[in-house]
Amino acid sequence: MSEELHQRLAEVRARIASAAEAAGRASGDVLLIGVTKTHPPEVAQAAVDAGLVDLGENRVQEWVAKRDRVHGARWHLIGQLQRNKVKDVVGHQVLIHSVDRRRLADALSRHAVQADTLQRVLVQVNVGDDPAKGGCEVSGTLDLVAYARDLPNLAVEGLMTMPPLPPSGVDPGEATRPHFATLRQLRDQARERFPEVVHLSMGMTADLEAAVAEGATMVRVGTALFGARRDGPWRPEEDAG
Ligand SMILES: *Cc1c(COP(=O)(O)O)cnc(C)c1O
Repeated sequence: MSEELHQRLAEVRARIASAAEAAGRASGDVLLIGVTKTHPPEVAQAAVDAGLVDLGENRVQEWVAKRDRVHGARWHLIGQLQRNKVKDVVGHQVLIHSVDRRRLADALSRHAVQADTLQRVLVQVNVGDDPAKGGCEVSGTLDLVAYARDLPNLAVEGLMTMPPLPPSGVDPGEATRPHFATLRQLRDQARERFPEVVHLSMGMTADLEAAVAEGATMVRVGTALFGARRDGPWRPEEDAG
């Protein structure tokens, strides 16, 4: 497994490097986050051992079950977050990519104060206005950034998005690029007022080149690194079998 992973990791890094070069950017300005959801902890550990320490999970429960079995990872929460799960993540995740409403920001701030930690977050934007996707509305983005950054112990460092799935037959990069451009414009507007709002978390296996071309500073890649995902989350019971 680990030889194949090394190979895939090299391929993904090469894709990022050539997209960055084409855009006149340094590939070091794009952080690769390996998305390990549904995969067992050994896969996540193999990634860390191969030098990919930034890992993303989208379900809090699955990540909680995995986290003690993986050493040396820097975890990113990239999925929707319920307020009753906030206590499990604050202080344990380097970056929470999915702040999409005021009450969630309030809860994160409150727990960060209690834990005496500074929690880094991104505001997730539903750029394609897609009912299947999380995120605040485009028109509400700057307000939410302004609101969340004023809360104690919360650092809003940028924006994240997951554009709508392109229709079949349409090149994913072409379909998603305008959405990535929208997120970049929002980030630029936010940064004029708040210089710390720098990051753009956008781009996945199918469209990372388009995202890097539009200024992504973080890409979240699962399939190209770890292969096809299983149907459901990984569960600790599986270790017994
Ligand atoms: C699963 C997931 C990814 C990775 O998608 P791939 O197409 O497998 O690279 C990226 N971002 C989020 C939010 C995800 O849930």
